[in-house]
Amino acid sequence: MNMYRIKFFFMVVVCFLLSIESNLAQSTLSPERYPIIPKPLSLIEQKGDFIFNKETKIVVKTSDEQVQKAVSFLVDLLAPSTGYKLGYAKSQAKNALIVALDPSIKSEEAYYLSITDKAITIRAKTAAGIFRGIQTLRQLMPAEIEQKQQVSSVKWSVPCAVIEDEPRFQYRGAHLDVCRHFFPPEFIKRYINLLALFKYNTFHWHLTEDQGWRIEIKKYPKLSTLGQWRKETCVGRHTSRTPVMERVYDNTPYEGFYTQEEIKDVIKYAQDRFITIIPEIEMPGHALAALAAYPDLGCTKGPYEVATRWGVFKDVFCTRDSTFIFLQDVLTEVIDLFPSKYIHIGGDECPKLRWQNCFHCQTFMKENGIKDEHALQSYFIQRIEKFINSKGRQIIGWDEILEGGLAPNATVMSWRGTEGGIAAAKQKHNVIMTPGDVCYFDYYQADPKNEPMAIGKTPTTLEKVYAYEPIPQELSADEAKYIIGAQANVWSEYMKTGSHVEYMVFPRALALAEVTWTSKEKKNYEDFIKRFKLQALRLDQMKVNYAKHILTDSVSIKGE
Ligand SMILES: [Zn+2]
Repeated sequence: MNMYRIKFFFMVVVCFLLSIESNLAQSTLSPERYPIIPKPLSLIEQKGDFIFNKETKIVVKTSDEQVQKAVSFLVDLLAPSTGYKLGYAKSQAKNALIVALDPSIKSEEAYYLSITDKAITIRAKTAAGIFRGIQTLRQLMPAEIEQKQQVSSVKWSVPCAVIEDEPRFQYRGAHLDVCRHFFPPEFIKRYINLLALFKYNTFHWHLTEDQGWRIEIKKYPKLSTLGQWRKETCVGRHTSRTPVMERVYDNTPYEGFYTQEEIKDVIKYAQDRFITIIPEIEMPGHALAALAAYPDLGCTKGPYEVATRWGVFKDVFCTRDSTFIFLQDVLTEVIDLFPSKYIHIGGDECPKLRWQNCFHCQTFMKENGIKDEHALQSYFIQRIEKFINSKGRQIIGWDEILEGGLAPNATVMSWRGTEGGIAAAKQKHNVIMTPGDVCYFDYYQADPKNEPMAIGKTPTTLEKVYAYEPIPQELSADEAKYIIGAQANVWSEYMKTGSHVEYMVFPRALALAEVTWTSKEKKNYEDFIKRFKLQALRLDQMKVNYAKHILTDSVSIKGE
């Protein structure tokens, strides 16, 4: 090769490399123009914008009522801030939003979203997919769209793009404990609305505890008089091991519960956002509030009082038949209210002391060949499972339900690390990952010395949540299929207000949204932070009290 040939060859190589780079640039999401969280599977950027105006028409190419509902969510969202309610048209208009079901799309919540300067098209297999697509559209609109009054200074534009998207996991949940502290229905709706914005599909409502029973049960009215009320609350940090003399109480009665009408209203609100609510009724432990209302349900028959401090309590449900009759009555009302496939029955932190010393429990074990109290707990859960299965539903339990043998159809929530999840998946049971060190948003999110009181010593930072991989390495590809998703848990011992809950949950819930929705290969923390900074403007418009460490800390993100 002479010099000219070498030069020519070199230039060809350079051109080739440049072309690869420009192709890469095209296929990379521009965080500023497309700040979508969780990040979609595929996005092709395009020039130009679609502008919503008074004349924009919606064309819904199906009579499916659920799709109509998803679309009306968008109409209702846009109306206050734009000052106009979008009208419907039968066929293609000049400036249109076209919505259609598309059976060629395979995954339940997947959607196709195309935005050109003339039309927006959303297609999906299901109405839920249409709704998830609408949330993407929402995130691409100016943050002021979230305003509840007209904003005339803003142009309602959406950047052109073609998006094909689907979730990595079928279960993407967030939980809230309303027992240690009670949150009114308005806050529960606000929480659900925020979850919907980031494509969560499940809200786990933790309704019963030692410190309060929070759901009206018509057949047992004392649950919502005696059971929902505690005479005072222990102040400051303490555990079951804190000496009695060192405990300080606030001397203030605390109460709150949801009527069945309020619960129906919240369920409808969640359904309008394609979020399933899973109710949790705790058993056999964490039952002191129920025992205070109906002492015959305990081994010693009381007297009991609703717990006034946090921790684990030795008084639990006895295994007499009358307990099962009570629980089946309660679950019947719960199942009538909640349409969810799953009913959470707790199953965690049940000390065995009372059972060991109970004449009934011990006799029952002997007569039925139950070898120890762990096996008795397993019997308890399996008996309840049988009842719930007979109603066409399935149970979820915390990972303690593995002890003494797993109920045949149970789904396990792995909270004490990942071991329970691994064991359950190996036994071919569905698993939802909620390991304490990454998925517990009641843990500190930053240096405890500058934070309101929370749990844990090592902070569960935003970056730590983002880095979480729900499939444990110990599982084979086949076993990994049993990991159906992950969930954020929010225990409210140290959260008295909705505002404090928001501070603990956001933005960590955005990181977990990306963990559960976005494909593993597409995740990138620095890119996430850039997008979060823009979605933070939306949270500002919604007056969400999210934690701002990542926006204000002097520690800058690597690469900035
Ligand atoms: Zn007993």
